[in-house]
Amino acid sequence: MSTSADEIKLWYQRHVNSGMFAALAFLGMDVAEVEAEGWMIRTADGREFIDCLGGFGVYNFGHRHPRIVAAVKAQLDRMAMSSRLALNPRLAELAHRLAAITPGELQYTFVCNSGTEAVEAALKLARLATGKPGIISARNAFHGKTLGSLSSTHREAFQKPFLPLMQHFGEVPFGDLAALEALIDDSTAAVLLEPVQGEGGIHVAPDGYLAGVRELTRDRGVLLILDEIQTGIGRTGANFACEHWDVAPDIMTLAKALGGGVMPIGATIGTAAVWEHFQEAPTVHSSTFGGNQLACSAALAALDVLVDEKIAGQAQTKGARMLAGLRALAAEYPEVIVDVRGIGLMLGLEMAAPDISQLFIANMIEQQVIVAYTLNFTGVVRLEPPLVMPESVIDEVLVRIRAALDGTRQVMEQFGLAPQN
Ligand code: PLP
Repeated sequence: MSTSADEIKLWYQRHVNSGMFAALAFLGMDVAEVEAEGWMIRTADGREFIDCLGGFGVYNFGHRHPRIVAAVKAQLDRMAMSSRLALNPRLAELAHRLAAITPGELQYTFVCNSGTEAVEAALKLARLATGKPGIISARNAFHGKTLGSLSSTHREAFQKPFLPLMQHFGEVPFGDLAALEALIDDSTAAVLLEPVQGEGGIHVAPDGYLAGVRELTRDRGVLLILDEIQTGIGRTGANFACEHWDVAPDIMTLAKALGGGVMPIGATIGTAAVWEHFQEAPTVHSSTFGGNQLACSAALAALDVLVDEKIAGQAQTKGARMLAGLRALAAEYPEVIVDVRGIGLMLGLEMAAPDISQLFIANMIEQQVIVAYTLNFTGVVRLEPPLVMPESVIDEVLVRIRAALDGTRQVMEQFGLAPQN
C-alpha cells in the first residue's frame, strides 16, 4: 500500500516538524520527492526540477552516479557494515586514498557519518594532540550543529537557545589576520576555518589570508583545521579549496560529496603528529557506524570519478560560465541583486534584502529550479548545482533565473519593496 500525498503532508506536520513543513509549503515544496537522476529531481505530482542546490554540496557527482551506485550495490552483496573486530578493507583503502589525494602531510583518517561529527573529531583530536583547550573560528562560520561544532558556528540564532556552549571558543572576523594574531594565546589548540565560507554567505578567503594563517599558526605552535565539508571534492574548481592558495592544514574535515551523493560519510584527516596520542589511546574517540563498508565503497568510487571525470576542472569551466551569466543578470536587475560572488560552482547571489531572497527562491521554485539561501545569511541565495551538469542545462538555468528575477521585480514593484542597504 503506497502512502498518499495527503498522508505524507499530515505525517510531516504531526510527526516530523510542523515548522519545517510550513517553511516548505511557503516555497511551494510541500510535495514528495520520488526520484532523482543527474541534476534532475522528480516530485510525486509529476514535475521535474533542476537541482541547483545540490543538497547543500552533496551532489557534486549528480544524483545516483552509475559508478558510485554500482560500487555500493556490489559491496552490499558482500558485507554491508563492519564487525568492528576485524580489519575493514574498505576503510583501509579509503584512508590510504585520502592520504594520497589530500594536500601536504595529511596521513591518517577517522571516518564518521556526517559533517558535524567530522568537526567534533577534529576539535577533540586538536585538544588531544596539543593538550590545550582553545579553538578559534571565524565570525559567520558554519561547522555544524552538535554542541562542539556549534560552539565554533558563530551564529546567534543557532547558539542562543543552547547556551552555555563549550568554553574556550574564540571568534575573529573572517579574513582579518591581525585579529587572529591578537587572539591566539598559550591556551590555543587550533584555528578552524572554511576556505570559502558557505553558510556565511559564500565568502571566498581573501588572497593571502590562508597562507598568512598557515604561517602564523605554524609560528605559534597552533594547529590549523580546514573545514572542507562543503568546499571539498571538486566544488570550487580544485579537489580541495585550500589548493587554490597552496595551503595544507594539520587537520582537514570532509563530508557531503565524499559519499558521492549515495551514502552519508564524514572524514577527519590529520598528520602523523596530530594522530600521535590518538594511536596510543585509539578508543578515546569512535563511532559504531563510522567507516562502514557501504559508505567507504561509495567514497572510494567517488574519488575515482573525481579523478577520472576531472570533476574539479568541470567545476572551474562551468563555474566561470555561470558566474559570467549571473553577473550579466545582476547588471540588468540591480534593484534585486546587489552582489554576485563565489568560486567554481559554489556561487552566491546577494539579494537586496532577506525578504527578497525568499521571494526570488519561491519564483525559482515556480520555474522548477531548486535553490536555497545560505543558513547564516539568508539574504544570499546559493547556487551549488551538480558539477556534472551540462553547460546547456546551466544556460537553461540562467534563462529561468531571468524569469524568476522578472517575477521578483514585479512583486517588489507591486508591494513597494524598496531595497535595504
Ligand atoms: N561544515 C561545513 C563547512 C558545512 O557546510 C556543514 C553543513 O552545511 C557542516 C560542517 C555540517 O555538516 P552536517 O550537516 O553533515 O553535519
